[in-house]
Amino acid sequence: MNDIFMNTYKRLPVTFARGEGAWLFDIKGKKYLDFGSGIAVNVLGHNYPPLVRAVTEQAAKYLHVCNYYMSDISEIFAEKLIEATSPAGMKKVFLGNSGAEANEGACKIARKYSLLKYGQGRHTIVTLNGSFHGRTITTLAATGQEKFHKDFGPFTDGFVHIQSGDIGALEKALDEKKVCGLLIEAVQGESGIVMQSQEYIAAAAKLCEDRDILLMFDEIQCGLGRTGTFLALEQYKDKSGNPIKADIVTLAKGLAGGIPAGAVLAGEKTCDVLQTGDHGSTFGANPVAAAAGLVVLKTVNDPEFLASVIHKGDILINALKEHHKVNEVRGKGLMIGFDIDSDAWPILEAGVARADNTKNMNGLLMLSAGQKTLRLLPPYTILDSEIDTGINILFELLDAS
Ligand SMILES: *Cc1c(COP(=O)(O)O)cnc(C)c1O
Repeated sequence: MNDIFMNTYKRLPVTFARGEGAWLFDIKGKKYLDFGSGIAVNVLGHNYPPLVRAVTEQAAKYLHVCNYYMSDISEIFAEKLIEATSPAGMKKVFLGNSGAEANEGACKIARKYSLLKYGQGRHTIVTLNGSFHGRTITTLAATGQEKFHKDFGPFTDGFVHIQSGDIGALEKALDEKKVCGLLIEAVQGESGIVMQSQEYIAAAAKLCEDRDILLMFDEIQCGLGRTGTFLALEQYKDKSGNPIKADIVTLAKGLAGGIPAGAVLAGEKTCDVLQTGDHGSTFGANPVAAAAGLVVLKTVNDPEFLASVIHKGDILINALKEHHKVNEVRGKGLMIGFDIDSDAWPILEAGVARADNTKNMNGLLMLSAGQKTLRLLPPYTILDSEIDTGINILFELLDAS
């Protein structure tokens, strides 16, 4: 079966057939605890009743209308999304289908903003080493990891990568004659859960403001409540101690809880840059995705719910710190990474191989990030007791490694 798919993914030997809460079941009925959420996508777990209801009800009404028209449900979704991101200064949204598409939109806005205001030549976008922004030719150009670039050049011009966390390098790279935007993940996901420091984000915000360079946050993995605030950037303050205001924020992955969706959000300075004919996407603002996204927003953007994400994350983080094979636990909320001395992939394999329904043994699904780093992104609806179950399995796997 695998032969008819292009060989783009290194896969584990399991085929899933259904899910329930934080659990997935394979075609043989074996059971696996999900500590990966399909890479930060299934934020409300599997088969979450309000989400299933919203999707099926919307599917029975209409699946799609083109962007010549408005859709009732997409309009409500967009309103809720602006409401949820208004603390970061967001005013308008463009809806698409994926993270790469959202970041492409962000780059287009940054380029046009600068062109209109300053003319040609100020088109460079600065990103950080270790970042991940997508797989298209332009978002690969933005991605600050060489391993993804091999074989696919030439890339879109005008991207510069700098050392993450180095304020001096940032100050030098943000040349106001050449640079239109800075694109950063407050918490880098793909490269192993690396949180930016308070000082770094504050310095970035100040430099961007002084030089009229757009401050753009890629919240595709770290946003949507993953770190305990709706956007991860809400946990940072500027130099005067005020909340960080972004010029652009991108979201995708968990935005519609498992239905493809992406969004570019823009603040005061940038929300009217794109005009009729400048941008588009056939499936953008899809009604089924909007119906699903509305459930995600209503559920996640709630102080009590967000506090529960921190609480669950703390259980996991504190437990991990106790294991002698866990070297450095990073992250916050349910976005956690840690290093081990051995390779991560065999641990993932052992987590899958452990499942055996004749012995009442369950598997554990995890993610890797690089060779020796494990990444845990459980669904927010996971129970405290299920986190304990997962920790026990994980420790057993680490002990045996
Ligand atoms: C996954 C990811 C992307 C790309 O999203 P796709 O939907 O796969 O295109 C971009 N940025 C970050 C931070 C991501 O984690």
